[in-house]
Amino acid sequence: MKRRIAILGGGLAGMAAAIRVAEAGEIPVLVETRQKLGGRATSFRDPRTGDTLDNCQHVVMGCCTNLLDFYETVGVTDLIEWHTETWWANPPHEPDRMRPGLLPPPAHFQGSFARMRFIDRPLKKAISRAMIAMIRMGFQGRAAWSDRTFKAFLEEQKQPAEAIRLFWEVVVVSACNLGVDQVGASFAIQVFQEGFLGHRFGSAIGLATVPLSELYDPVEKLLHDAGGEIQLGNSVRGISYDGRRISGVVTSNGLLQAAAVISAVPFDRLAKLCSMPLRQADRRLADLDQLEVSPILGVHLFFDTEVMSLPHLVLPGRGTHWLFNKGTDESGQQHLHAVISGAEDWMDLDEETIVARVLEDLRWAQPRARGLEPIGYRSVKEKRATFRAVPGVDRIRPSVEPGIGVPNLFLAGDWCRSGWPATMEGAVRSGYAAAAAAVGGPGVLPDLPIALGPRLLGLR
Ligand SMILES: Cc1cc2nc3c(=O)[nH]c(=O)nc-3n(C[C@H](O)[C@H](O)[C@H](O)COP(=O)(O)OP(=O)(O)OC[C@H]3O[C@@H](n4cnc5c(N)ncnc54)[C@H](O)[C@@H]3O)c2cc1C
Repeated sequence: MKRRIAILGGGLAGMAAAIRVAEAGEIPVLVETRQKLGGRATSFRDPRTGDTLDNCQHVVMGCCTNLLDFYETVGVTDLIEWHTETWWANPPHEPDRMRPGLLPPPAHFQGSFARMRFIDRPLKKAISRAMIAMIRMGFQGRAAWSDRTFKAFLEEQKQPAEAIRLFWEVVVVSACNLGVDQVGASFAIQVFQEGFLGHRFGSAIGLATVPLSELYDPVEKLLHDAGGEIQLGNSVRGISYDGRRISGVVTSNGLLQAAAVISAVPFDRLAKLCSMPLRQADRRLADLDQLEVSPILGVHLFFDTEVMSLPHLVLPGRGTHWLFNKGTDESGQQHLHAVISGAEDWMDLDEETIVARVLEDLRWAQPRARGLEPIGYRSVKEKRATFRAVPGVDRIRPSVEPGIGVPNLFLAGDWCRSGWPATMEGAVRSGYAAAAAAVGGPGVLPDLPIALGPRLLGLR
């Protein structure tokens, strides 16, 4: 007999879990409160223009092995465009380009890094020194830093203030959604170890060529073909717990009985779905109120002419962290998207002020934009974008390992302890792990293999 497995939440964690449940031969029923899939990584219809816009540019990196497997399973890999190089604004000069060269990892960026002009040689030497320290400490040494900030690590490595301002800060805040002085060192070190040092493809940037919501279109058919279903516009109101096991969930459309439940809703939502006896019975649910959030701000800008020809730009030392080129249409109108991570200080600003600040950064980075005004804009504040990846937070993130807590309740979501910070990769990993715990199957896929050079130097 096939068993019915209820999956709560149609973000990446929920979709990943549902697909694995289907592959295991069970019946996935995915319940999503909104009328669309994707959760925080999705698109919306701008009421001002009718355009479909992403809530924010989402970047996948080459080291995101599980997310890439998800895209492959769904059949959308060809909708991701890859960039192995990153462009760093350096006005009044042309932007600097960082890209892997001929040398093997971990020296693959050495050539282009040496040629970059926005930081001088002493800063480069200091940055290289810290990179070597991150290789030599290995993955195990990284764990020893989980209770301290990345700033403490940078200070121990005697990093000059300018190296922090121009290099470390923008990379770390973009990847971890917290600045170097707040983020747990182990999260930031992971970004460099796995993204930049271990494998030449690890830091490649993948960008969807269609609105994010379109990436999930095939999911419904995949689940349907397996005898499952997606219930959009249906809210879970509570998880039914009989004192021993979960019997199903109460939804706005009635009771949904299930042999097991995989929760893939955000931690604050889950807290509302659990009764006190359930929270007392399952220690994974004890600390749900302890997690905090960090915001991200995305700003869509439209110009009647092309102002930026590069696919993206990193803005070192500026309030705006990244600019993405979303394309120019037949009439010559260009769509840019600006991203500000760890955007706590921007949350109380009105849209005009936000746009004015972003335009100042755009004009600093791209002389072509000087004197030009956008013909349209739309800012999107995501106040609860990610959990705050502060030192020690992994102690209160529930594990995705099986065998803990109420036997047929499984937890997924980027906030679970997946070994990753709050990212699409972390979400998919948690979904795969939860499905494996619930119904068996392959679970989380391995990381990119570590190249010989960094392995010999002690990275793993
Ligand atoms: C602005 C922004 C930019 C980001 N940029 C990046 C990036 O560049 N790269 C990257 O890797 N990550 C990025 N992230 C993080 C990434 O989006 C998330 O880590 C990931 O999408 C989380 O997926 P999830 O499935 O865990 O949670 P969610 O996406 O939050 O999914 C949870 C789902 O549960 C649903 N739900 C909630 N309550 C109920 C209920 N009661 N009943 C039914 N359904 C319910 C929600 O509607 C939602 O669809 C960004 C996030 C934001 C907000």
